[in-house]
Amino acid sequence: MSVSDVVKFKATTKMPNLTPGKVWLVGAGPGDPDLLTIKALRSIEQADIILFDNLVSQAIRDLFPASTPAFYVGKIKDAHSIPQHELNDLLVEKAQQGLNVCRIKGGDAFVFGRGGEEMLRVKEAGIDVELVPGITAAAGCTSYAGIPLTHRGVSQGCTFVTGHAEKELGVNWKSLAQLEHTLVFYMGLSKARMISTKLITEGLSAQTPAALIENGCCPEQRVIRGKLSELAEMVEREHVQSPALIVVGDVVKLADRLDWFKTMTDQQNSETQIKKLSA
Ligand code: SAH
Repeated sequence: MSVSDVVKFKATTKMPNLTPGKVWLVGAGPGDPDLLTIKALRSIEQADIILFDNLVSQAIRDLFPASTPAFYVGKIKDAHSIPQHELNDLLVEKAQQGLNVCRIKGGDAFVFGRGGEEMLRVKEAGIDVELVPGITAAAGCTSYAGIPLTHRGVSQGCTFVTGHAEKELGVNWKSLAQLEHTLVFYMGLSKARMISTKLITEGLSAQTPAALIENGCCPEQRVIRGKLSELAEMVEREHVQSPALIVVGDVVKLADRLDWFKTMTDQQNSETQIKKLSA
C-alpha cells in the first residue's frame, strides 16, 4: 500500500476518543530475518499498523501478519516516498488515532536511520515510544563477511562514517586517516573514489586492505576485497549495487581465514545441486 493510502488509513476496529496508541521504533537488522530481535518480532506481531523502509528485507516483510496494514514509507537515493517531516507527523497522527504503530527500518534506527528525529517528534507530542535496537549493518555485514571490526593486535577501535550528506559532508578526513583502526562507511558506494582519495591524501596507505559488502547478511551477499587505492575500480568492475558497506582497515585480511557464511552457502548450494542431479 502506498503513502496516500496510509494517510487515509484510520482505526476502524478501535473506538473514537480513545487513548493514544504507542510507537515502537524498531531496528530490523541487516536483512536476515533470523537476526530480528524477539522484541522486534513481538512489536511486528502486536502492532495495529506497520510503516516500513526499503531496507527491511522481503524475508522480514513476509513475517508481517497478513491482517495488519503495512505501508512503505521508505527512501532510496533521491527518491523519498514521503518527506521526513511528514513521516514524523504521520507517526504522531496514527498513534493519536489510537493505533499502536510499528515503525520498522533497516539495521538500527539510531545509526544513520533518522530514528532520533522520529523519536523527538513522537516524544514532543506526548506519545509513548519504545526504541527496539537492531543489528546495524556494520556489525551484521562484517560478521557475515568474516571481518572482525576489532581484533587484538590488529585494530583497537572502529569508526562508523556516512558517505552521504544532504548538503556538505562534514567529515574530518585527516583525523580518520590517522586513527589506525577500522573505518566503516555507510552510503559510500557512489563516493568510493572520493573516500579513497581523501584518506590516501591525508596519509593512509594506499595498500590498506578494503572491502565492499553488498547485500550483507542475505543469501546473495557479495564481499569484494582489494586495496584502498582500488576501491572505485572494485565498485565499477564488480558492478556493486546498493546496499553496500565499505570497510577499510587491516582487519579485512582476516576474512581469508574467518569467512564462514560464503563457505556455508556454497556448500549448501552444491549439496542442493548434487541432490538435483541424483534425483
Ligand atoms: N540504519 C541502518 C543504516 C541505514 S543507512 C543500519 O543501522 O544499518 C543505509 C546504508 O546502510 C546503506 O547505504 C549501506 O551502506 C548500509 N547497509 C544497510 N544494510 C546493508 C546490507 N544488508 N548490506 C550492505 N550494506 C547495508
